[in-house]
Amino acid sequence: RSNAEKFEFQAEVSRLMDIIINSLYSNKDIFLRELISNASDALDKIRFLALTDKDVLGEGDNAKLEIQIKLDKAKKILSIRDRGIGMTKEDLIKNLGTIAKSGTSAFVEKMQSSGDLNLIGQFGVGFYSAYLVADYIEVISKHNDDIQHVWESKADGKFAVSEDTWNEPLGRGTEIRLHLRDEAGEYLEESKLKDLVKRYSEFINFPINLWASKEVETEVPAEEDESTEEETETTSTEEEKEEDAEDEDSEKKQKTKKVKETVYEWELLNDVKAIWLRSPKEVTEEEYTKFYHSLSKDFSDEKPMAWSHFNAEGDVEFKAVLYVPPKAAHDQYESYYNTNKANLKLYVRRVFISDEFDELLPKYLSFLKGLVDSDTLPLNVSREMLQQHSSLKTIKKKLIRKALDMIRKLAEEDPDEVHDDDKKAPVIFFTDPVDEYLMQYLMDYEDKKFQNVSKEGLKVGKDSKVKELKEAFKELTKWWKESLASENVDDVKISNRLADTPCVVVTSKFGWSANMERIMQSQTL
Ligand code: ADP
Ligand code: MG
Repeated sequence: RSNAEKFEFQAEVSRLMDIIINSLYSNKDIFLRELISNASDALDKIRFLALTDKDVLGEGDNAKLEIQIKLDKAKKILSIRDRGIGMTKEDLIKNLGTIAKSGTSAFVEKMQSSGDLNLIGQFGVGFYSAYLVADYIEVISKHNDDIQHVWESKADGKFAVSEDTWNEPLGRGTEIRLHLRDEAGEYLEESKLKDLVKRYSEFINFPINLWASKEVETEVPAEEDESTEEETETTSTEEEKEEDAEDEDSEKKQKTKKVKETVYEWELLNDVKAIWLRSPKEVTEEEYTKFYHSLSKDFSDEKPMAWSHFNAEGDVEFKAVLYVPPKAAHDQYESYYNTNKANLKLYVRRVFISDEFDELLPKYLSFLKGLVDSDTLPLNVSREMLQQHSSLKTIKKKLIRKALDMIRKLAEEDPDEVHDDDKKAPVIFFTDPVDEYLMQYLMDYEDKKFQNVSKEGLKVGKDSKVKELKEAFKELTKWWKESLASENVDDVKISNRLADTPCVVVTSKFGWSANMERIMQSQTL
């Protein structure tokens, strides 16, 4: 294309794409939910803007906030279109290739060790999962602030962006055209797509329509029938006609006959009733679990540990669903310290407002996931003004109370087993960065004192021999200390912690552990 501008993918993105395109990962289905989730995000964004400026939606079909899926079996193209916010040329270049999200390299690492692509959405790189099924992708997009552009790539390290002079104008929004690989032919089956949308995109709050075929019976004149069968009875009485119509064999003998014809029409695939608007009594455990998966973008099979779904009434009305996740999010620690990501989605009268509202829960509860939808908050104000709204304080108070209730109940129902054995030590293997922080404050548990094995002064049982050994090895320890430069070690000591290794390097009692140093270092980079 003459007007195409060419770009190279940022290095990490390129690596990610290589891995995806060569992946043997069997659950390729996940690409659809990622693309639908992006479409839904884009619709949320335009709907939010429309709160303060109605004109952004435009008129007619443009104002329909929906997602459309179309199949072209002959050309092997699956397209997903939304009437969301769309992308400007600059957005296409930045969002789809040149600026790597913070989760990109973390995800590449994770995939190399586990091969599991299921969590791709959590790392903010879900778009690229489309290359599981396509070897060539076109993204056609129209944003209100720009003309229509096409982004395209064969995942060969580069992509091109051109001014779109050949496709039909979209009005507004984005169409992703997937040129399916030969082995991905199943995604051209309507039944497969219907099944996937039902399974994975159940909680998308916009209509998802499929351009679906339907068999209809129509009457056509018999003369047009190309059948070679002799037409013996070309006339018949009205009565006979009616009887014959029910008898397939004799149909051909009629002047008119019924034929099956395939017509296409939009078929709605999802039920857009939001789960949090339903009565908690009606929602099944399975539905809560699936809703959690879609909220958290964590599609592993794990169930949330607990949830609380409630309806607050009074001066400030709102509905909320809160979850205790089954495990810490991969970026929990990072988001706690470095961003204001709140993990709670705020809706006002069913309209998604923000998931970066840190006024809703205190930081210490920021590991919870969930959603709040309030009828009391005003719709047509900016995010900043909403953040100041007096009702938020009341909402926060109630959320905290409900959250603590939920956690307390969880603790009562399912207390961790603690092995009380005086003679033995309760050894805990800490693997998460946040554990380091916790252990700075947690000195003991019941009558057990915590000791860090990576630090000096570890006391394991009683050892009366230490004194003797210190004496015996006095010269050696002195020699060691002098041989090692003082900026490398503080001290060299006799230890009774070792079983079959001659020495160990540990941290001084009040310094950072090696693990902590690693954490601090990764933060400052
Ligand atoms: P995430 O959705 O977590 O941000 P993705 O890799 O799925 O990560 O998408 C990357 C970015 O591309 C999105 O943040 C968004 O800016 C843009 N994008 C993707 N699909 C669409 C779309 N249908 N409409 C508008 N923007 C989109
Ligand atoms: Mg996404």
